[in-house]
Amino acid sequence: MPVNSVLIIGAGGVGNVVAHKCAMVPEVFGKITLASRTLAKCEAIAAAVRQRTGRSIATAQVDADDPAQTAALIRQSGARLLLNVALPYQDLQIMEACLAAGCHYLDTANYEPQDVAKYEYSWQWAYQERFGQAGLCALLGSGFDPGVTNVFTAWALKHHFDELHTLDIIDVNGGNHGLAFATNFNPEINIREVTAECRHYENGRFVSTPPMSLHQPFTCPEGVGTYEIYRMYHEELESLVKHIPTLRRAQFWMSFSPAYLKHLEVLGNVGMTRIDPVLFKGVEIVPLQFLKALLPDPGDLGKSTTGRTCIGNIITGLKDGHFKAIFIFNICDHAACYAEVGSQAISYTTGVPAMIGAKQMLAGKWNAPGVWNMEQHDPDAFMADLNAHGLPWRCVELTPAAAASFRVA
Ligand code: NDP
Repeated sequence: MPVNSVLIIGAGGVGNVVAHKCAMVPEVFGKITLASRTLAKCEAIAAAVRQRTGRSIATAQVDADDPAQTAALIRQSGARLLLNVALPYQDLQIMEACLAAGCHYLDTANYEPQDVAKYEYSWQWAYQERFGQAGLCALLGSGFDPGVTNVFTAWALKHHFDELHTLDIIDVNGGNHGLAFATNFNPEINIREVTAECRHYENGRFVSTPPMSLHQPFTCPEGVGTYEIYRMYHEELESLVKHIPTLRRAQFWMSFSPAYLKHLEVLGNVGMTRIDPVLFKGVEIVPLQFLKALLPDPGDLGKSTTGRTCIGNIITGLKDGHFKAIFIFNICDHAACYAEVGSQAISYTTGVPAMIGAKQMLAGKWNAPGVWNMEQHDPDAFMADLNAHGLPWRCVELTPAAAASFRVA
């Protein structure tokens, strides 16, 4: 059997986890190349992978904004599949490179233009025909949220319901990094997402509300703790309500600490979260990009972060004509992730599903030509792999009252 060769692009917090986890499954990932804008970061990750797993991975420098460079690297590395864990800005250019060089594609975040704080799937769904005609497969959003949350929903529909009615995705980070202010993934992408207008789906349309205007306390199971969760827009809502049209309401909630929100408010008030260029001493700078340069690198937070994350879906609907409600979730420990691969749990919970999505594609289970969201595939093998590769999940049934009040603990 030929050796599967994969190319990972992006050597940040998530790239570090993807490289380690692929290296830990040599029977699927026979040859691994890690490429990014800064070669030294790839080399540092390759050295850590060698130390932890004994495997050598190749490294390369690439500017993924240039499809010709990426296509040349795909050909040179012999990659069958490219895992894009660079930034959402590069998605379309990397998809072009995959089409040019005949390579399957996977990412963890949907395309976002750098100069407009807006993300939606339309740009990537537009590649459906070209990938289909080329006999290539593109898997969109194979992280945790989007990613596992989409697969949780598909699995619930397959095994627990005849029809889904409501979906509430809840993302709690109960971790503490000990710093005054830091984001747990790329600061620029994180702040653009958090400061965006909130949108949730209700009765056949998306409804807009001001950012962070609705919140409530949420007590996680297994003693993770009680945190304030805020309703916000998240990209998987768009694909899930499209592919599961019986959903009457779909919402996304994320926990934030008062200190995080206060810093963000002040930074916003003084203009530091602006994404339009301003002139400073004759040079154009984008305040949010400058802020990113000052903030801690999320990839370095692992060594100081303690506590756990809890991410899951509360789902209601009908089974055999009766109301049913469940909560499916994963709990992940920051320190355990750091001990295993040198990353905090946010990078870990994104990187592990990227490896598992790639595994499904290379195993021929999720490889139909075209552009796919996670919920469009059979969830069973992916769900089994979550348990096998570090993200064990549980599913509990809820009473109608508990589901309505988000009482899951
Ligand atoms: P980082 O900023 O830590 O890493 C991004 C990497 O991409 C860096 O190594 C960067 O290079 C590289 N890069 C940026 N631009 C280019 C380019 N033009 N060419 C080549 N490489 C480039 O981000 P994270 O690791 O935290 O996040 C990675 C991705 O994962 C993001 O898209 C993020 O949105 C997504 N994500 C998804 C989640 C999910 O659950 N679905 C959750 C968290 C993140 P350099 O080091 O030189 O800057």
